[in-house]
Amino acid sequence: MDANIVLLPGDGIGPEIVSQAERVLRAIAERYGHEFELSSHPIGGCAIDEFGDPLPESTLNACRKSDAVLLGAVGGPKWDDPHAKTRPEAGLLKIRKELGLFANLRPINPHPALLDSSPLKRHIIEGTDILFVRELTGGIYFGDSGRQGEGDHASAFNTMVYSQAEVKRVVRVAAAAALKRRGKLTSVDKANVLEVSRLWRHTAEEVVKKEFPTLEYEVVLVDAMAMHLISRPTDFDVVVTGNMFGDILTDEASMLPGSLGLLPSASVGESGPGLYEPIHGSAPDIAGKGIANPLATILATAMLLRHSLQLGAEADAIEAAVTQVLDAGHRTADIAQKGESSIGTTEIADHVLQAMSG
Ligand code: NAD
Repeated sequence: MDANIVLLPGDGIGPEIVSQAERVLRAIAERYGHEFELSSHPIGGCAIDEFGDPLPESTLNACRKSDAVLLGAVGGPKWDDPHAKTRPEAGLLKIRKELGLFANLRPINPHPALLDSSPLKRHIIEGTDILFVRELTGGIYFGDSGRQGEGDHASAFNTMVYSQAEVKRVVRVAAAAALKRRGKLTSVDKANVLEVSRLWRHTAEEVVKKEFPTLEYEVVLVDAMAMHLISRPTDFDVVVTGNMFGDILTDEASMLPGSLGLLPSASVGESGPGLYEPIHGSAPDIAGKGIANPLATILATAMLLRHSLQLGAEADAIEAAVTQVLDAGHRTADIAQKGESSIGTTEIADHVLQAMSG
């Protein structure tokens, strides 16, 4: 296969972890006989420094022409001035919008060798394997907002709006994913209070009944879901929800495995390239020290191969190699337990490459 993959290393530890993922991509290309054209482009703070724009036109054009995009992370204290004209995160919001990435996929499957790093008890977390599908470009984060009045009479508002078309397309992504997994879909809303959730519920049910009748389907209120996630996480397969509920629930769920450094995510649209990234930020506190954990980015690379390039066997090979490395006891500092020794960014990637070639 010939594929054009754009790398957006970004800021902080971004370049360190993306360069390790690049080694993995090159190894996959060699082993399976693919031609991957890889090119790096600036985004975030480094792009502000160079171009005065967190998403320069040249970067956006390269992404548009690509088959998939791999992102490190953006941001850092250097660009935190609240009075600045623009911020690194603006680059992220813009790229999602420009590429039409309306569905965010976040797998939560704690690694067996790290179950004791979880803040939850082993017997609750063991066997958890959830795929969250969060709507990413609609809802309250994008609705009308404003302020009015003065003093004690000052008020502010945000508006949560979803169209049926927006609900349908994200539910279809989630339902199709559930069909390829254990066949269960949970839709999360707040239909006992919100009109917009009643539309969401009605629309989601219609899509599932008509187009995915074999799925096991359930509806859960968002407040109940917040409890179920930490009391019985193993009951869920694919969970679909709106932008704000998904924002909160996926952050809650990301605590289950006990490490940010192992969790990848994907943002996809109806067509065109998907965007793949670790869920953590640019970790400026450890940037340049050679100790960042590259595994979330390497696992994001596996998602890229599976979802954008349909290279399932190659994705499986990367995930199996990461599992093997963790089973063998190799740890970066962020996932090492008290008393365990740790290795650096390049060393743990070396082990992954070795496991892939073994
Ligand atoms: P963070 O995820 O960068 O870091 C939180 C903690 O986790 C830090 O102690 C960090 O050292 C550690 N950590 C994170 N990733 C790690 C890794 N791969 N290996 C080892 N340790 C790791 O979150 P933060 O500190 O709140 O944010 C730092 C910057 O990142 C901010 O500018 C924020 O806006 C930005 N950010 C960017 C994204 C993104 O690009 N998608 C997401 C979240 C935060």
